[in-house]
Amino acid sequence: MTHASTSAKTWLARIRELELPRPIKLMNVCGGHERSISFSGIRGALPPDIEIIPGPGCPVCICPEEDLHEAIRLSLEEDIVLVAFGDMLRVPANVPKNEPRSLEQARAAGADIRPIASPQEAVAIARANPDKPVVFFVAGFETTTAPVAAMLAEGVPDNLLILLAARLTWPAVAMLLDSGEAAFDALIAPGHVATVMGPEEWSFVVDKHHMPAAVAGFTPESLLAATYSVLRQTIEGKPFLDNCYPELVRPGGNATAKRWLSEVLEVVPANWRGIGVIADSGFALRPAWQHLDARRVFPAPDEERRRAGQMPPGCDCAGVVLGKIYPDQCRLYGRACTPRNPIGPCMVSDEGACRIWWSSGLREPRVA
Ligand code: SF4
Repeated sequence: MTHASTSAKTWLARIRELELPRPIKLMNVCGGHERSISFSGIRGALPPDIEIIPGPGCPVCICPEEDLHEAIRLSLEEDIVLVAFGDMLRVPANVPKNEPRSLEQARAAGADIRPIASPQEAVAIARANPDKPVVFFVAGFETTTAPVAAMLAEGVPDNLLILLAARLTWPAVAMLLDSGEAAFDALIAPGHVATVMGPEEWSFVVDKHHMPAAVAGFTPESLLAATYSVLRQTIEGKPFLDNCYPELVRPGGNATAKRWLSEVLEVVPANWRGIGVIADSGFALRPAWQHLDARRVFPAPDEERRRAGQMPPGCDCAGVVLGKIYPDQCRLYGRACTPRNPIGPCMVSDEGACRIWWSSGLREPRVA
């Protein structure tokens, strides 16, 4: 079932031949998957009784309000350089009027904030500014976090501090399935996360919840292969974890990346913006690296900790991230909230479902 050479057209023909026992809703949990699905028009090409809803695939979208606010505060109040991956800069926080509501606005107000594209750039900036703390604001899933762990394991300048808001992907899906509120019938698991962590991480979907699951890559062909797989599993009543991205996903994942992650970081409960605390879903620095923890070097006032969980008023990002609604079902989609004037993080990040839908040409809200 994992034939890399099979064309998208052939997969679609095979899918159309299936006789489904009922309408089926699949969930993907990866911004890259969602982009490929939206831009290739897979949704429109599938029979109408097959839906694909985007789920928790955007780490920037669930970066806690208090972490974002702390980054803004540090950049404005401390004599530091703050570096972050580019799409974090425009994510809005809830602040009183006339205070900077994003890192981009803090930069316009005079803060030294620099967008970067890789951990190596953070190290280079720290080396070039040896007399200043350089705070690296890290929001990302396993694939982003592993290179950061490698960077720390290999040694960094003493003035490079870490403000960590890194998350694991699978616990949000586990939380949804355990809650009994999951509104999907099968899972398309993220190929890049499985490449690092191993496909076995998603076994719980099948073993505990008896739900069809397949790991997919990022091409329409791989996504359609995974779609076909979970539909066949549904029809046959025999769920299993299929690997439809065997080119890169191997049993056990990437041992080196996993060693970096476990050497440098421990898994802890973590807050997801708009959603709340999810067990075993966050990374924290292990004791040997805690002297580089920006939160320890610059403790936050209590007021920031109380900001946990806030989304901008009217923003349904939490519902979008959890796959409970489609982006265009948000009351603000395409009206008050557009990429030019984003209200919530899902319209900012390149991995946010609202932004992806808008960019793919879907610009009308579904609600009246
Ligand atoms: S359309 Fe805007 S306000 Fe609505 S969920 Fe998406 S980001 Fe939030």
